Amino acid sequence: MDNGNLSSIRLLDALRTAVGDGQLKVYYQPRVDIRTGDVVGAEALLRWSHPTLGSISPAAFIPIAEETGLILPIGEWTLRQACAQAAAWRTAGFDRLVVSVNLSPRQFAQGDVVDTVWSILRETELPPQQLELEITESITMDVESAIATLNRLKRLGVRISVDDFGTGYSSLSYLKRFPLHTLKIDKTFIRECTKDENDATIVRTIIAMAHNLNLRVVAEGVETKEQLVFLQRHLCDEAQGFLFQRPVPPEELVEQLEELPAI
Ligand code: C2E
Ligand code: CA
Ligand code: CA
Ligand code: CA
Repeated sequence: MDNGNLSSIRLLDALRTAVGDGQLKVYYQPRVDIRTGDVVGAEALLRWSHPTLGSISPAAFIPIAEETGLILPIGEWTLRQACAQAAAWRTAGFDRLVVSVNLSPRQFAQGDVVDTVWSILRETELPPQQLELEITESITMDVESAIATLNRLKRLGVRISVDDFGTGYSSLSYLKRFPLHTLKIDKTFIRECTKDENDATIVRTIIAMAHNLNLRVVAEGVETKEQLVFLQRHLCDEAQGFLFQRPVPPEELVEQLEELPAI
């Protein structure tokens, strides 16, 4: 067995105990309205802090959780946390913040995903329009059943967004058929959009296409003022990235809501 396998088995072992042990936390990164500068939402992002291994990146443990099915309990826990947090913010007066939660392909393919979402919304008393589910293009393995599930989720009143847009396959064919609310432009296109003419064209084209399809567009990974100005000029709707704030614990998000750089 090579080291890669060994370490992923260790990681899997550790991950199994992480949820029950309170090692997982949900952090939040604001989504900012590009025209007004208001924080209009926040993306829930998992953080794992292991007692001896230290902090482990979701890029390392989400794929293992996905492969092994552990993503199902972890994902449900995350969704419940995020909805409860959004409901608490609502009670505190932030009643228009939309919380977005990443839904993995495996979770999406679960027969009872719609029931799970519905019961968590009822349990936490969060109005469905304050929840957005981020899916990726990899749910399109079985297009017809994906459309059926998305339609049922839409009927609950939650919003659906496509994450990492532009990085997968078959992006365009299903855009028309999926009941989507938002496209999130992948950060790999944003990174060079002020320097690389091809990336600039891609970003502009995605924004224009999304608007023609009546979708909202979010740019992720916005790190510089120049990128923000570019996105403003091309009428992107929302931005998310280190320029505004890194993902932070929920207490910090609210403390800093007023202090984010003005647009
Ligand atoms: P993602 O959904 O595309 O999330 C955005 C990632 O970009 C986050 O990485 C975030 O911290 C990072 N990011 C935000 N702003 C910037 C920026 O300005 N520059 C750069 N370079 N990066 C930025 P993170 O938190 O490490 O998460 C990585 C991935 O792990 C996520 O990518 C998502 O695919 C997955 N993930 C995280 N939490 C969850 C979860 O609760 N459920 C599922 N299924 N996946 C999750
Ligand atoms: Ca995401
Ligand atoms: Ca993304
Ligand atoms: Ca991603």
